[in-house]
Amino acid sequence: MSVPASLDEAIVADAASPLHPYRARFDLPEGVIYLDGNSLGALPSQTVAQTADVVTRQWGQRLIRSWNEADWIGAPQRVGAKIADLVGADPRSVIVADSTSVNLFKLLVAALRAQPGRTEILTEPGNFPTDLHVAEGVAAMLPGVTVRTVDAGAVMEAIGPETAVVMLTHVHYKHGARHDMLAVSAAARAAGALSLWDLSHSVGAVPVALDRDGADMAVGCGYKYLNGGPGAPAFLYVRDTVQARVTSPIAGWMGHAEPFAFGDGYVPAPGVARFLAGTPSVIAMLALESGVDLFREAPRDALFARGADLFDLFAARMAALLPAIPCVTPSDAAARGSHIAFRHPDAFAIMQAVIDRGVIGDYRAPDILRFGLTPLYVGLADVWRAVDMLADIMATGAWRDPRFSVRGLVT
Ligand SMILES: *Cc1c(COP(=O)(O)O)cnc(C)c1O
Repeated sequence: MSVPASLDEAIVADAASPLHPYRARFDLPEGVIYLDGNSLGALPSQTVAQTADVVTRQWGQRLIRSWNEADWIGAPQRVGAKIADLVGADPRSVIVADSTSVNLFKLLVAALRAQPGRTEILTEPGNFPTDLHVAEGVAAMLPGVTVRTVDAGAVMEAIGPETAVVMLTHVHYKHGARHDMLAVSAAARAAGALSLWDLSHSVGAVPVALDRDGADMAVGCGYKYLNGGPGAPAFLYVRDTVQARVTSPIAGWMGHAEPFAFGDGYVPAPGVARFLAGTPSVIAMLALESGVDLFREAPRDALFARGADLFDLFAARMAALLPAIPCVTPSDAAARGSHIAFRHPDAFAIMQAVIDRGVIGDYRAPDILRFGLTPLYVGLADVWRAVDMLADIMATGAWRDPRFSVRGLVT
């Protein structure tokens, strides 16, 4: 698609999009342009009814019977299988559990223990903080283990005989650049290391093919592009051929081969279910399932193509109206995710001023303005209006109002 040349053209193109009907499937507030679905996805309307049913009927009326009747017990695998479809994985290789941070911990420890004699976690500086912190924590816990960071472009050559696991975030949370999963996973394998991918900014944003691209392990987030709700459970993937070699450091009963045999000794479940730990947060998991179900209805190719169109329009209008605010996200669609980031020293105050006018993006320290482009509920006209708004805020200096420099706990 060529980029629309006017707001009217953008409105016409939106109405013609196969994604257009999906916007009405979300409860979005009037007058808000929501460009932060990469941080907290919007609320699918069906999740309201679905969650009410889970709480009032499944829990309230059916009580403990729902573990079997409503298959609460099977939810980690059932929802995992649905997510597997979105990340190009065998349905038996993904489960939903815990948070992304906890899943990273479990898989990092498992990877290191499966690779005796190898002591290095290789990653990149500037990775999402929790990924680096969890890696440091694992290194502090396991004798001899170290974390080495090398720049994104140097990762492949840096993989060596010491490397146990290469842990990378597929799409960078800040600038949005995407790693070549196929090439890095192959380089890791050739050097005898495992690859572990964080898909938090990839799942639902760009095509992912874990099985095809040779990834060994992955984790990802449920509350961003999957619209699972604040703090939604995360998912994890372990390649089928790797599953039997790895065990979870949290040997909980839900990951036991026979949880309801209530035996004293721990026997890991066959397959990826061994990475379950304790009782899942059922209400949250079923809210995530509702978001994933909605996502799976949408035509996938059209979705990713539209994400790319939203990006191209955003980039083109910024270059035309605000050339002094550089885009830091790669322009090649295959080399990025589905958010767009710009650099400005006053990014924090500018973003507060934009949010004050109903265009919700976010700020990432120290100087990044970030906008999530979620094609299920964001259209070209939204992007058009958002850039107009930003241009007005810059032209009038509205962002200089001191109230826009007051920082909350969450940015
Ligand atoms: C959002 C995100 C997380 C979130 O981790 P939580 O444990 O859910 O807080 C982790 N890693 C990356 C790369 C993310 O983008």
